Amino acid sequence: MSKNNEVIFLQQIKGFIFDLDGTLYLGEKALPCAVDTIQAIREQGKRVLFISNKPLEPPESYAAKLTRLGIPASADEVITSGYVLGTYLSQQYPDLAYYVVGEENLKAELRAFGLKVLEELWDQNEKFVIEPSGIDAVVIAFDRTLDYRKLNTAYQALRHGAHFFATNPDKTCPMPGGGIPDAGATLAALEYLTGRKVEVMAGKPGRVMMEVAMQCLGLPPERCLVIGDRLETDVRMGIEAGMHAAVVLTGASSREQAEEAMPAPDLILDDLGTLLRLLRASEWGSKRGDEF
Ligand SMILES: [Mg+2]
Repeated sequence: MSKNNEVIFLQQIKGFIFDLDGTLYLGEKALPCAVDTIQAIREQGKRVLFISNKPLEPPESYAAKLTRLGIPASADEVITSGYVLGTYLSQQYPDLAYYVVGEENLKAELRAFGLKVLEELWDQNEKFVIEPSGIDAVVIAFDRTLDYRKLNTAYQALRHGAHFFATNPDKTCPMPGGGIPDAGATLAALEYLTGRKVEVMAGKPGRVMMEVAMQCLGLPPERCLVIGDRLETDVRMGIEAGMHAAVVLTGASSREQAEEAMPAPDLILDDLGTLLRLLRASEWGSKRGDEF
């Protein structure tokens, strides 16, 4: 796309959906122009939404972190995979009893959506076949307290036909020095054990996160732009939801990968400074009332 076309393209966009790590910040540092870009979008009367695949903390925590890094944000501008799953399940399956392989934050978030989250079946020995009575659905999430009892209980429930849901498919969670096993690893174990496939994936690159994002923004997909550093998750998810997508080359993707990617991103941005310049040009074009 030529620069003029990029500017006209951005004038059509009303909602900007931002990935966090590798896009707006790296660890505890905001990436260059992140603060000014978000501010410029808001000054144009457009909406922003922040997305995370991690169900370990509530939206309030991400809003606090963004605010700390100079990007003022409120909890209702953040959706995590836990929030997305809670929204989806409370709309589609409000009356099931859920067994959650996940941490306390996720259980609390799902309960806050009015869902029934079961306790561990402590009266049964985890070294034998657990009778999964009362479990209608299993939720697999990032869980740093995973143990044999949880794996066994989830397996038995799924073997008996329980619904099968997950927060996010990530194999590992990046950490200083490498990564640690994430929900995708547990999910793969249970899919292998049962021969079943997860029914609904809340987080990236599944479609549910984008449906919830559109509900939050109150915009049709063609007015939304997803901005992220990963082609296989952020960009793919946006395009498959009928939205537009931009890849920013400050995280996981190189220019060569971006140029060869299928589906292709609408925009390839070296950094957020490129987006900021296009936004300013699009505002100037709108004020002049003509096209480039
Ligand atoms: Mg990222």
